[in-house]
Amino acid sequence: MAASNQPASRLATVYNYGSINIDHVYRVPHLVRPGETLSSTDYQIVLGGKGANQTIALARAGGQASHWGQLGRADDWALETLKDAGANIDNVALLESASGHTVIQVDDDGENAIVLFGGTNQRFTPERIGELINGADSDGWLLLQNECNAIEDVIRQALARGLKVAFNPAPMTPAIRELPLSELSLLFVNRGEAAALVELEEDSDADTLIEALQTALPGVNIVLTLGSEGAWRLDGERGDTLYQPARPVQAVDTTGAGDTFIGYYMAALQAGFDDTTCLERATAAAALAVQRAGAATGIPTVEEVETFLQ
Ligand code: ADP
Repeated sequence: MAASNQPASRLATVYNYGSINIDHVYRVPHLVRPGETLSSTDYQIVLGGKGANQTIALARAGGQASHWGQLGRADDWALETLKDAGANIDNVALLESASGHTVIQVDDDGENAIVLFGGTNQRFTPERIGELINGADSDGWLLLQNECNAIEDVIRQALARGLKVAFNPAPMTPAIRELPLSELSLLFVNRGEAAALVELEEDSDADTLIEALQTALPGVNIVLTLGSEGAWRLDGERGDTLYQPARPVQAVDTTGAGDTFIGYYMAALQAGFDDTTCLERATAAAALAVQRAGAATGIPTVEEVETFLQ
């Protein structure tokens, strides 16, 4: 398929092996202290998880998204949000155990404290993983983050099946360096993830990070996002770099900026757009997302992104 700034007609599926979290968000006057019982002034339950956010972004972008996930049966309402975005949820299993979830306190200064329980996101079995991989079309992409268990098995099996693999190592852990990263088709990293991956300080400048990434992972296509400083694409084959400045907007909530960027980038790639256009569309979508509160709720639709790009 020729890369261009025009979309292709048939889309290969992006399978997202990704977390689905139920976020319980409590507004409190201050973060609860040891031994204290504190009344919350507001309570909201929202869909979260980097996996779910990226699937929503991919589907809202018009992509062919199939979410591979697991959720506690009591929380099946959360699937509506994925479905409404246009994602295929046939491969989200409902289990008789607790969903991945967070308990989030947000105080009057906007400070937060979070308890995370991995729940069903950490309970994928080898049998289930085998079924998912065997059921995938081999011309598709596997997208994954680091919020579910067994990611090494999933990456290796997907590669063996011929899928192209795009990986976002979030949250970053030292074990990530042991994965077969050189076999990835695409690696998405933000500043913190990039710095941790190549063992540099987080405040290292872009040139230093880029050089270290290219040295550590020659041959791998890498997309490095640097918040309001924009994004870079490092070409693994040619060794050259492409830069896309961020849109100058007033950010109100940057939660989910990276997830929106990744979902839109994957949709553009899947549609056959060239590298520059993929970066432009992802950057525009993320700029819209940071101007809105919330992660999943802030992810724009493709119509909004097209309008913004005009
Ligand atoms: P993450 O959310 O994973 O930390 P980044 O902070 O690097 O990821 O943001 C991802 C992308 O979102 C950036 O490359 C940029 O396009 C966009 N973005 C993030 N913050 C801003 C901002 N303040 N203004 C405009 N765009 C932003």
